Amino acid sequence: MMIRTKEDYIKSLKELKHVVYYRGKKVEDVTAHPAFLPHINAAAKTYELALDPQYEELMTATSHLTGKKINRFTHIHQSREDLIKKVQMLRLISHETGSCFQRCVGFDAMNSMYSTSYEIDEKYGTPYHQRVKKFIEFIQENNFMVVGSMTDPKGDRSKGPSQQPDPDVFTHGVEKNDKGIVIRGAKAHQTGAINSHFMLIMPTQALRPEDKDFAIACAVPVNAPGVTMIFGRQTNEERKFDATGVDAGNPDYGLVGGEALVVLDNVFVPWEQVFMFGETEFAGTLVERFATLHRQNYGGCKGGLADIIVGASALAADYQGTSQASHVKDKLAEMTHLAETIYTGSIACSAMGHKTKAGNWEPDALLANTTKYNVSKNVYEVARLAHDVAGGIIATMPFDDDLKNPEVGKYVQKYLKGVADVSTEDRIRILRLIENMTGGTALAESMHGAGSPQAQKVMYMRLGNIEQKKKMAKKLAKIKENA
Ligand code: SF4
Ligand code: FE
Repeated sequence: MMIRTKEDYIKSLKELKHVVYYRGKKVEDVTAHPAFLPHINAAAKTYELALDPQYEELMTATSHLTGKKINRFTHIHQSREDLIKKVQMLRLISHETGSCFQRCVGFDAMNSMYSTSYEIDEKYGTPYHQRVKKFIEFIQENNFMVVGSMTDPKGDRSKGPSQQPDPDVFTHGVEKNDKGIVIRGAKAHQTGAINSHFMLIMPTQALRPEDKDFAIACAVPVNAPGVTMIFGRQTNEERKFDATGVDAGNPDYGLVGGEALVVLDNVFVPWEQVFMFGETEFAGTLVERFATLHRQNYGGCKGGLADIIVGASALAADYQGTSQASHVKDKLAEMTHLAETIYTGSIACSAMGHKTKAGNWEPDALLANTTKYNVSKNVYEVARLAHDVAGGIIATMPFDDDLKNPEVGKYVQKYLKGVADVSTEDRIRILRLIENMTGGTALAESMHGAGSPQAQKVMYMRLGNIEQKKKMAKKLAKIKENA
């Protein structure tokens, strides 16, 4: 049955019965556990907003496979406009959730797999592209959520996949027969894994010919035998367990993407769900395309989060009577500049996108990398300025329990109050939202999500065409070409 509403989505997750651990305990129903609800609520927004007529243009698309109306998160980009709409959609959903809504990773995995499988088939006559199309059609028809599973744990970073003392630190094939393959390994930092329906597994990096066993791309249901998910810890996550208090910051939605370590212990994958097996030279292509598509996003989603932080900082200033100070106005203007700068990058790489051989569209890689690199700096700067505007109080406020305590509550009320017409509770709520959105886990996601800054630097050296730039400089300086 096609998932349409939030209720359908939650019901579908209940039925999965996949193996999930939280704080050392197995979780029977992820939809009934307070650790997962904020992430489920955030991902559910990708379903809810698609039903709202005012967002139809951004949240839905027409499938090029079936001609039917589909959720944009299952779409294969058919134009530059599709790429731009994706970025606009992400900023919109960030405004609604104030957190990562996770569904973009699988979206990007499907798009990168679509073009790469076409090119593998072109070279080897393999049947991958047809299988990918079939899988995507199935995802579109059911409106499933897919987790893009790329990052392997990688063990000793000085060694390649086939040189590791424990080969399982890179996901690899351990068996193959006429029915399919068996894979073993793990995928780390898996955004949205516990509330997705399928994993789209991809290699984690470019591979050498000797790494054949590691060149695997395939689709695996999250409840396949052998899949175990271990949920990651986040900054202050348990504050959300009491959503009625003032401590939670953003009580209804996630902080980051609800990341999990996903173990693949001898998981069987039928051939129809295998999209790459041994074609090592295409691993790098797939990784780069996925990275480009995911780096494209960050000015949209993090730009949207920065908007909320700007708004929260402006409110904090209003609530404590500092909003007319010229330095506060200057900081809010600077924060706005930083947010719009990253958004500009996402729009630019989309506008400069191109058509792949398979016919779908992808963003400009150099500009997408630039966007993500700027995000890894600008979001920290937005957070720094938010802390500056809000004041040291974000680091010292008492608990919600103190506010409610009959003995000391009156003191918290009295001494944490700012301007007369705003309640102490509301002041604490907005300060906690700033704390929530600018704390450890949230910032680290801007740094390392979609690849760490060094990965973008590598791409600058590859795509930046420095030789061409040397030529331009020589010409102007009147230095002979072979000098
Ligand atoms: Fe989507 Fe942004 Fe979350 Fe990545 S970090 S899954 S792009 S919301
Ligand atoms: Fe991310």
